[in-house]
Amino acid sequence: MTDSAEIKEELTKKTEEAVKAAKPAKKSTAKKASSKTAASETEEKKPAAKKSAAKKPAAKKAAAKKAADEKEISVKAEAKAEEKKTEKKPAAKKPAAKKAAAKKPAVKKTAAKKTEEKKTTVTVVEEALSEAVAEVKAEANGIVITPAAEMQAEAAPVAAAETSPKTAAEAPAAEPAEEAPVSQIAEEVQEEPAGPAMPEPRRSVAFIGSECYPFVKTGGLGDVMYALPRALVKQNCDVKVILPRYKCIPQEYQEKMVYRGAFEMNLCSDGRSFYVGIMEYIQDGIVYDFIDNEEFFSNGNPYTNLVDDIPKYCYFGKAALAALNYLDWIPDVIHCHDWQAGLVPVYLRTMFDQTPLARSKVMITIHNLRFQGIYDMSMIKYWSGLPDYLFTMDIMTQNWKDANMLKAGLTYSNMITTVSNTYAGEIQTPFFGENLDAHLRFHSGKLRGVVNGIDTDLWNPATDEKLAYIYSAEDAIEMKKANKLAMQEAFGLEKDSGKYVIGLISRLTNQKGLDLINAIIPDLVDGNTQVVVLGTGDSYYEDAFRYYENVHKGTICSNIMFDEARAHMIYAGADALLVPSLFEPCGLTQLIAMHYGTTPIVRETGGLKDTVEPYNQYTNEGNGFTFDRYDAGLLLDAVNRSKTLYFTERERWDQMVIRNMQKDVSWENSAKQYRDLYLELTM
Ligand code: ADP
Repeated sequence: MTDSAEIKEELTKKTEEAVKAAKPAKKSTAKKASSKTAASETEEKKPAAKKSAAKKPAAKKAAAKKAADEKEISVKAEAKAEEKKTEKKPAAKKPAAKKAAAKKPAVKKTAAKKTEEKKTTVTVVEEALSEAVAEVKAEANGIVITPAAEMQAEAAPVAAAETSPKTAAEAPAAEPAEEAPVSQIAEEVQEEPAGPAMPEPRRSVAFIGSECYPFVKTGGLGDVMYALPRALVKQNCDVKVILPRYKCIPQEYQEKMVYRGAFEMNLCSDGRSFYVGIMEYIQDGIVYDFIDNEEFFSNGNPYTNLVDDIPKYCYFGKAALAALNYLDWIPDVIHCHDWQAGLVPVYLRTMFDQTPLARSKVMITIHNLRFQGIYDMSMIKYWSGLPDYLFTMDIMTQNWKDANMLKAGLTYSNMITTVSNTYAGEIQTPFFGENLDAHLRFHSGKLRGVVNGIDTDLWNPATDEKLAYIYSAEDAIEMKKANKLAMQEAFGLEKDSGKYVIGLISRLTNQKGLDLINAIIPDLVDGNTQVVVLGTGDSYYEDAFRYYENVHKGTICSNIMFDEARAHMIYAGADALLVPSLFEPCGLTQLIAMHYGTTPIVRETGGLKDTVEPYNQYTNEGNGFTFDRYDAGLLLDAVNRSKTLYFTERERWDQMVIRNMQKDVSWENSAKQYRDLYLELTM
């Protein structure tokens, strides 16, 4: 994430301009940024990997015969890659992009048609009521429409013209486009390629959460906020994603954002009012609305400490709802994510209950129950401005003197989901319940589990530009070896495709089972095994991995950093991936690993249990190696079982690699389940 002084200065200037002048972002810079291709981004990143290789001492040359073998693999891989570059790569990528482009008009047109139909029926009523509604909204939300907000009426259409075409979601705010002649419309309709049939009826959903790839990501929540809306668009949902406009969002996206309006909003119990700006960016049919406020979102990282984060997300929760009202975008369902959006259901059913938004249903998804937004009650009372009657043990109070933002969100949501079935059961028990198990048992009637998927366009070894060699299930066995050699070279490991390489891509916290890994690392180093770590987190674990790298140079490589490109290289180049979590709501790394033909070694908990079927040596079925109790000895046993298969029955191992690559880990099924839940709420 970029955070240089230059960018900071640029951003401050831009935000100030937006606030003062209430003018849309400059088109020329946006265009310039958008013309930067993905290829050139990869070019920029590659030297980083090379640099790391250069920093580390070159690995000792293997024996002459081995070197010759490796050379053969590399030469073969190079030849294959050349073949792919000339034939497969463009074939794999371009048609995919084209396909998406071909599909999009279908969605847009359906949306446009629907909007058109809606318009004819509601325009008259809307026009007559719009002024009255605006007044009611402003009063109920404690919003004062500022001159900047009034200017939005002029600014929005200009902004709209500068962005890509809109979805139906924006129709109420955007000025109606000039009517096309009937003949032209007929022509366009005829030209329309027949897209996949969309399930009816259509539903509109507002996602509210604190992170979303590619703008800002610290873990799985960022992946879900990116991929699930895209999968829902294919399920005939109209999706708007509301996020904070953090300063750390890369400049290339900041520049493309378009000003949609601004207003003042009361927040605290003493009526302090704050600026709320709305900046919009549209990508692949998804509308991203960023809540803009320098005071709350100007830190380098999205999360800093609770003293800052509690006010930040009190503000964000209320501002997100106020923005929906302001844009006059009333979704069927408001879908909140984690504690940072925990107050959304509470505001919705209290301070916003006299606004048009009140007719929306609200769902909250728990991505990780460990984080709840708990802080001193008086501070949350002050910042949220919520009435005293909410601060009771059955709504928002925790331990009699603290308030809990997630708990309140669970109470006021129409439905609670979490990211796997097993975790949905686990969190109702004291061990996994993080002191909310009783509350969750009380609300278990509205609690469901839907397992996450991965975005298979983003995570696709056949088109992944971050890989040394792209591959598919057909040539995975050979090409994974080539990727392993490339990774070993880049990471300063001994170059030997015969070594068993174990990867770890994780936040370095005790949740991820790092105590178990720490305990067995000396037993993993056996002359035939290498370990590649990528992660950041608790300094205790960071230092431990640095130490192991020092002691076992060429065998263990610790990348103590957050680096997307390296993550892709490890998923492709490793043989196995360790995920021995203490608890794991769903877990995405094991899904990505399987999709890249890397065998997961996991503890049977939460989503790991739901997504990795243990290998069965009698039937030769399954996806990985598992163990149940949280015990280092059992983890070592699982690793050793995996090594036994790898070193003694390679054919069966290879079959598992291919089986895993063919396993459906996409979002499609889960998106259908979410859609069904939206229907259940709104039918
Ligand atoms: P979490 O509990 O952190 O959300 P998940 O398994 O759900 O765990 O998601 C982790 C996501 O973050 C995956 O996309 C993984 O590749 C990515 N990730 C984790 N650590 C790193 C890192 N150090 N560098 C790059 N990506 C990382």
